[in-house]
Amino acid sequence: TEPRPSNFLRDIVAADVAAGRHGGRVVTRFPPEPNGYPHLGHAQSICLNFGLAAEFGGATNLRYDDTNPEGESLEFARALEDAVRWLGFEPAEVRFASDYFEQLYAWAVELVDKGLAYVDGQTDDEIRAGRGTVTEPGTPSPDRDRPAAESLRLLDEMRRGEHPDGAYVLRARIDTEHGPMAHPNMKLRDPIMYRVRRNAGHYRRGDDWHVYPLYDWAHGQGDAIEGVTHSVCTLEFDVNRPLYDWYLDAIGIAEPRNHQYEFARFNLDYTVTSKRKLRALVEGGAVSGWDDPRMPTIAGQRRRGVRPQAIRSFFDGLGVTKVNGSVQYPQYEYAVRDDLNGVARRVMAVTDPVPLTVENLDAAVTVEAPYWPHDVTPPEGAPLTRALTLGPDLYVERDDVSVDPPKGWRRLAPGAEVRLRHGYVVRVTDIETDDAGGVVAVRATADLDTLDAEPEGRRVAGVVHWANAADARPATFRLYDRLFTVPQPGEDFLDELNPDSLVERGGYVEPSVADDAPDTRYQFERLGYFWRDPVDSAPDALVFDRIVALRDSWGK
Ligand code: ATP
Ligand code: MG
Ligand code: MG
Repeated sequence: TEPRPSNFLRDIVAADVAAGRHGGRVVTRFPPEPNGYPHLGHAQSICLNFGLAAEFGGATNLRYDDTNPEGESLEFARALEDAVRWLGFEPAEVRFASDYFEQLYAWAVELVDKGLAYVDGQTDDEIRAGRGTVTEPGTPSPDRDRPAAESLRLLDEMRRGEHPDGAYVLRARIDTEHGPMAHPNMKLRDPIMYRVRRNAGHYRRGDDWHVYPLYDWAHGQGDAIEGVTHSVCTLEFDVNRPLYDWYLDAIGIAEPRNHQYEFARFNLDYTVTSKRKLRALVEGGAVSGWDDPRMPTIAGQRRRGVRPQAIRSFFDGLGVTKVNGSVQYPQYEYAVRDDLNGVARRVMAVTDPVPLTVENLDAAVTVEAPYWPHDVTPPEGAPLTRALTLGPDLYVERDDVSVDPPKGWRRLAPGAEVRLRHGYVVRVTDIETDDAGGVVAVRATADLDTLDAEPEGRRVAGVVHWANAADARPATFRLYDRLFTVPQPGEDFLDELNPDSLVERGGYVEPSVADDAPDTRYQFERLGYFWRDPVDSAPDALVFDRIVALRDSWGK
C-alpha cells in the first residue's frame, strides 16, 4: 500500500484520544454558511471533518453557520446537505446556528452583567478608527464604561427592532495586560458581538430577531453546545483563536472543551473556490448555473459525471498541511481518471463525423466486441461484451483523416491502411474534399480476411474508431476545458474567462448505449471519459458530457 500522506490534524486527534482527553471522544462538525453552493474547498473540509471523526469512532455534525440574514437560503442549505450525503457521509446530527440565537443572547446578557460587554453607540467609522492599527493602540469608546443596566436596556431594544441598523452594536469588553484597546491582536480590541439588522427576514427565523451575532461570537459557542471536541477551520482564522477561547472563558465553559485548529485552505489552479466569486459567475450568466459542469462546485462536478469516490480519494491523497498553496488541475484530473478507468465501459463515438464508405463490403457483419481492456478487471456483474454491427457506410473522426499527412501519420490518408477498431483493416482509395480543402468523404476497401486476424505479410499499426451509419445514434458531445485562462484568477476574474471552456459537437454514438443505465460511465475510445448529461440528455436526443480527457492535454 502507498504511504499515507501527512495529516497533522489526525496526529493531534490521535494524541488526544491516546491521552483520554474528552473521555476519548471525537466530535467534529462541518459548518458551512448557506449562502451559495459548496465547492471543492468545502469537499476537503467535509472529507477532513467526517474522515477524522470516523477514523476514531466519533461523530460529525452538519451545522449551518446561518447567523447572517443576508444571502442565506433554504436552497443553499439543501445543496450543502446534498453534497455531504452525495460524498458518502452521514451527519450524526443536522444543526442550525440560528437555533442557538436564544442561548447566545442569554450568554451575552451574562457578559454585560459581568462587565464583559457593552452597547456602543459609535458609528461604524468611529469604531473602525478607534480600533487603532497593528502598530498603534486604539482609543476606548466613550461608551465603554456605560452602566450594565443601560447596556441591557439598549440591547433589549435592539433585539426588539427599536433601533435602526448601525445605531448600536454590542461589543465585548476585553481587558488584558496591554490595557484597553491595545492588544497586539486586533481581534481582541473589543470585537463586535451583535449588530442590528432590522427586519432583515432571516430565511428560518423570519423577523424573530433584529440583532445578529457575528461569526466569532457564534462559532465557539455552537461548538460547545454540540460537544464538539476538535473544531477545524482554515488558516486565516488563526488570529481568531484567542477570541474563540476568550468567549468560552467568559461564559464559563471549562476544560475539557472544544478547541480550534487551522489547516491550509484548498485552492485549485485555473478556477476559483469562493462562493462569492462563484455566485458572480452564475448571476452574470458566465455559466448555465451552479451545476454547470465547468463549475468547481460539487453540483457541477457531479453533473459532469465525476464520482464521489474520485473526490474522496483525491483529498485522501492530498494530505492536510498548514502551508497555503494551489493544487495543479492535472492532479485533480488524475484522480478523476483513475477512478473511472476501472468502471467505464469502452465504447465508440464519433464527435466530428466524416462519412467513410467501405466499397467492397456487400453486407454488414456483426462482431462481439469487448467492453474492457486486458488490464482492467471488469466491475462485478458488468457485461463483458456487446454486439457491434459494421456495414459499408460508416463515420470516422475528422481528425483521423488527412489528405497531406505529416510524417509518422498512422491514420487515414490517401493509400494508407488502418484497422477499424474491432473490425477490418481498410485501405483508403479516395478522399473527397471541398474547395477549401476540407474533407467531405472517404472511400476505402476492406481486407476481408482481417476481421479476427492480422493482414498477410504486413503490419498495420494505426487503429481508428468509427460509428455504423445504419444504427448509430445521433448525439451531442460537450467538451469542457478550464474555465479561466490564468492559473490564479484575480479580482478581475470575470475578464479572465476562457471563451472555449465549452465546445459542443454533433456526431454519433454506437447503439449499445441506448440500453444502459443513465448513469453509466464510458470511455469513448481515443476521446475521453463521458456520461449522459443528467439534465439535458433525452433518449431521443442524447447529450454526453466529457468528464475528463484521456490524458493531460493542457497547454497543448
Ligand atoms: P467561501 O468563501 O467560499 O464562502 P467560506 O469559508 O466562507 O468559503 P463556509 O461555508 O463558511 O465558506 O465554509 C464551511 C467550511 O468549509 C468552513 O469550515 C471552511 O473552513 C471550509 N472551507 C471553505 N472553503 C474551503 C477551502 N477552499 N478549503 C478548505 N476548506 C474550506
Ligand atoms: Mg464562512
Ligand atoms: Mg464566505
